[in-house]
Amino acid sequence: MSSSHSEAASERTRVRRVPKRAAYDRATIDAILDEALVCHVGFANGVQPFVIPTIHWRIGDELYLHGSAVSRMIEHGGALPLCVTVTLVDGIVLARSAFHHSMNYRSVVLFGQARVVVEHEQKLAALTALVNRFSPGRAEHVRAPNPQELKATAVLALPIVEASAKVRRGGPIDDEEDLALPVWAGVIPLRLQALPAFVSEPQVAGAQGSAPSLGFPFSDRG
Ligand SMILES: Cc1cc2nc3c(=O)[nH]c(=O)nc-3n(C[C@H](O)[C@H](O)[C@H](O)COP(=O)(O)OP(=O)(O)OC[C@H]3O[C@@H](n4cnc5c(N)ncnc54)[C@H](O)[C@@H]3O)c2cc1C
Repeated sequence: MSSSHSEAASERTRVRRVPKRAAYDRATIDAILDEALVCHVGFANGVQPFVIPTIHWRIGDELYLHGSAVSRMIEHGGALPLCVTVTLVDGIVLARSAFHHSMNYRSVVLFGQARVVVEHEQKLAALTALVNRFSPGRAEHVRAPNPQELKATAVLALPIVEASAKVRRGGPIDDEEDLALPVWAGVIPLRLQALPAFVSEPQVAGAQGSAPSLGFPFSDRG
């Protein structure tokens, strides 16, 4: 792209349709990765593609994934090329014609080869970052993973190098001749909202009195 949003890192990561919505800069890509709570991990095992929804988090230049050491995603994720996608839906775009209905969104597609994080301290740091992602500082208060739990959990780190973002904003793009139609048109914005918490019993003496605050990207509990 010949804009401040820099160039695609590779041909396979270049957005083709509506390329003005593409961005390849790390600031845009990281912001989307950090806001999204889940990603979809795609890999092809032979001719059969698999696309698995899962939690992700970012530390610096790497996107982290974790799971049971014997899960298909982890087993293949450490060996096969991956395509990870992340999607944030910001609004429903209601146009005057059926054809121009759309969504406002921010999304990322990331290609690469993940490494299995084997070094003990690195693995622990990655899993700590995951807990703190849910609620800042929480890892200090909860029981740390024991050796068995650590062994059963595999952590993958995927370098954020070959990535693209695509962002749609704004209202419907109707055809000129449809603008006079007596149809409501516009955007219904959407956002992620945390609802009032419910307690998991038993809450023992010394436990925090109210539910901990969540990290970004949640809006306030209702
Ligand atoms: C919530 C949401 C809803 C969408 N709904 C539709 C729909 O109904 N129909 C439709 O055709 N498209 C839809 N899209 C857009 C879709 O993701 C693709 O961008 C579109 O299919 C055009 O792909 P292409 O043929 O230009 O590129 P492709 O050849 O498919 O992709 C080339 C490269 O561009 C990059 N790329 C493509 N799309 C994205 C993306 N969304 N985010 C980041 N990088 C990307 C990737 O690196 C990819 O490898 C939607 C996107 C989102 C996030």
